[in-house]
Amino acid sequence: VQAGKSQDTFLHQDEKYVWHSMKPYNPDGTMVVAKAEGAWVTDTEGNRYLDAMAGLWCVNVGYGRKELAEAAYEQLKEMAYFPLTQSHVPAIKLAEKLNELLEDDYVIFFSNSGSEANETAFKIARQYHQQNGEHNRYKIVSRYRAYHGNTMGSLAATGQAQRKYKYEPLAPGFVHCAPPDAYRDNDDGTELKAVKAIDDVMTWELSETIAALIMEPIITGGGILVPPEGYMKGAKEVCEKHGALLIVDEVICGFGRTGEAFGFMNYGVKPDIITMAKGITSAYLPLSATAVKREIYESFKGTDEYDYLRHVNTFGGNPAACALALKNIEIMEKEKLFERSKNLGAKLMNDLKTALKDHPLVGDIRGKGLLVGIELVKDKSTKAPADVSILNEIIAFCKKNKLIIGKNGATVAGYNNVLTLSPPLNIEEKDLSFIVETLKTAFYQK
Ligand code: PMP
Repeated sequence: VQAGKSQDTFLHQDEKYVWHSMKPYNPDGTMVVAKAEGAWVTDTEGNRYLDAMAGLWCVNVGYGRKELAEAAYEQLKEMAYFPLTQSHVPAIKLAEKLNELLEDDYVIFFSNSGSEANETAFKIARQYHQQNGEHNRYKIVSRYRAYHGNTMGSLAATGQAQRKYKYEPLAPGFVHCAPPDAYRDNDDGTELKAVKAIDDVMTWELSETIAALIMEPIITGGGILVPPEGYMKGAKEVCEKHGALLIVDEVICGFGRTGEAFGFMNYGVKPDIITMAKGITSAYLPLSATAVKREIYESFKGTDEYDYLRHVNTFGGNPAACALALKNIEIMEKEKLFERSKNLGAKLMNDLKTALKDHPLVGDIRGKGLLVGIELVKDKSTKAPADVSILNEIIAFCKKNKLIIGKNGATVAGYNNVLTLSPPLNIEEKDLSFIVETLKTAFYQK
């Protein structure tokens, strides 16, 4: 890429040839990035920006890690591709490593994206019940506001109508219930209304038709909804009561984002199926995985030659991506990035609260590890969501001041009102202070 050229040179071609998604993410126009190092990205004109959103694309170990490029290059020279209908060493080693990180006995199916990992999970859940003779169990329950992917099944599982209605009909057999909203429900864990919401939907849809519940430990794209204590355990118990599997989507929460290897580890549950992507390679190459409890996997070993799984993926578990993922995990372990996420996240949250909590727009500051949401409201007593134009102004102000932040939520009902921070896990402390100071200026001096 040609650094040193004006943005306009590229923006003209970009406008002509590249179809982007998500214009609303980008209220201040497209930026053409040429280089990136650590937590900082540099555009073609040499302007540097701190990428405090890198964590939503999950560049967890930061940009510019030569070791990762080298791991992929060495593998590409040695053996570039072979399908996982057979096997190869990088996939075997990575599956073993993931099993170790998951702290229980899981078997791994590889794909290329978070959406595909979730599709795979839905198929495994449905086929599992079929093989147990429970032919009516096909429905997948998920929560409103959650995002689970862009394909017809994973989008059907997504609880954000604005992303879906132009593409309907999507895959049938997906039903939603209310998410936990600890801020609005005033739910400190005593009532657990959102657990009851799962129980209700499984009851009213008829227990014997429910294949699985899919949930993120913390709803990320829908507005950093941190559940109240006891919610995830309650959800698992409800699944057991109805005979459904629990699928946990770790596409963003996984690999240290929330201060643990995986988000579910904060909540003391053992999922039946876990999906992961993005952070598995720190987003350097496409790779995803669906981890399945061994008992479920074993039940696929029937007599029919197709009994194992009637699902195949050409590029899933690409050797270079697996080799890179192994190196990525090695870096995370060596640099203790999960712990760092927990500690720096606590500091970031604390500093943000000190700087912003008294501002009339700031309703709630919440998160876990280096995943933080700042919910903006019109009025702290009614908690009515702030207009998205205010969030856009703050995002644009930050960008002008060399800080990239994001926003999340649901455009339906005006809940597109949560500013999002998720820097690389190896961000330096002075850069965290830069985030806090820039936001403080954005709120108080704008
Ligand atoms: N699940 C979650 C929680 C996600 O945030 C995303 C992507 N933002 C996906 C699944 C889908 O991943 P991908 O874009 O790699 O298909």
